[in-house]
Amino acid sequence: MYDVIILGGGAAGLTAALYARRYGLGTLLIEELYLGGQIINTAEIENYPGFCTPISGVDLIAGFEKQARLYNPDIVYETVREINFGNKVKIIRTADNNYECLTVIAATGQNPRELGLPREGELRGSGVSYCATCDGNFFRGKTVAVAGGGDTAVTEALFLSRICRKVYIIHRRDSFRAAQAEVNKLRNTGGIEPVMNARVTGLLGQNKVEGITVSENGSSRTLELSALFIAVGAAPNSSLFKGVLDLDDHGYIITDSEMHTNVPGVFAAGDVRHKTLRQLVTAASDGAIAAHNAMLAIQED
Ligand code: NAP
Repeated sequence: MYDVIILGGGAAGLTAALYARRYGLGTLLIEELYLGGQIINTAEIENYPGFCTPISGVDLIAGFEKQARLYNPDIVYETVREINFGNKVKIIRTADNNYECLTVIAATGQNPRELGLPREGELRGSGVSYCATCDGNFFRGKTVAVAGGGDTAVTEALFLSRICRKVYIIHRRDSFRAAQAEVNKLRNTGGIEPVMNARVTGLLGQNKVEGITVSENGSSRTLELSALFIAVGAAPNSSLFKGVLDLDDHGYIITDSEMHTNVPGVFAAGDVRHKTLRQLVTAASDGAIAAHNAMLAIQED
């Protein structure tokens, strides 16, 4: 029986593991795929406090993992199939194991949202991508496009402009949602062409992307290019908790400021939580607060 089981090994989960172990809690972290979460897709991070020169997501999160492992949490790579939070002892079922614990921290994060284009799934991996850091190199020297206007889209366009011949960034409104500092960089970077008030409407090419159609101010045009990077937000990984934890209209887990969910002993942290600012620094903060309150819940019991 564990004191705390953490679901998800991204920034929130790894920070929760670090804090939980430092509080002396018996800690299991269950991760489905690989430690690190979404941040491994970010080429350069400039806003994590204490790092004055840009650091890659991979390098930064490797430090999170190394630091958490110094305190020896148990870490397994398994897919959670079922949860039972109905009793004091909570049960997490994976394909191979039943784990029991007194508290749970849900830190399952979010995944990139699809644009919903015809053949988007079919051409994924053949010119349709949701991660410039992962796939950008395949399109070195080529013309590409990014769809979206948030921090992810702008960061990806800036990254791609260093390796690609030309980068279109196609956004449905007349102003970007991304942080102004990044937007300024985008405007001052050669090789990037913003296409505003526009939507990608189709993918061209048989077995790989050879172009896209764009609807712009009521008319349609074709852009010849080799890849479309889709960065139109994300959806929470919360289906496991549906009907058990209170979720908002978009599926994010509702907590109070101490990361308590509606179920005693169950906490949520990081991008899967309903909040206004999804950043590495807030994910880490959530993880620390959740672990602290898990410790208090066990002490008070
Ligand atoms: P986001 O902030 O939700 O932005 C999504 C963008 O996609 C918006 O510009 C939105 O347009 C557009 N969009 C959504 N659905 C669309 C559709 N169906 N068709 C066309 N466009 C669509 O998502 P994000 O950029 O992935 O960022 C997620 C969170 O991570 C944010 O809190 C962000 O600050 C954070 N983040 C931070 C950094 C960093 O600080 N370095 C880097 C990456 C991400 P509208 O603007 O019209 O709604």
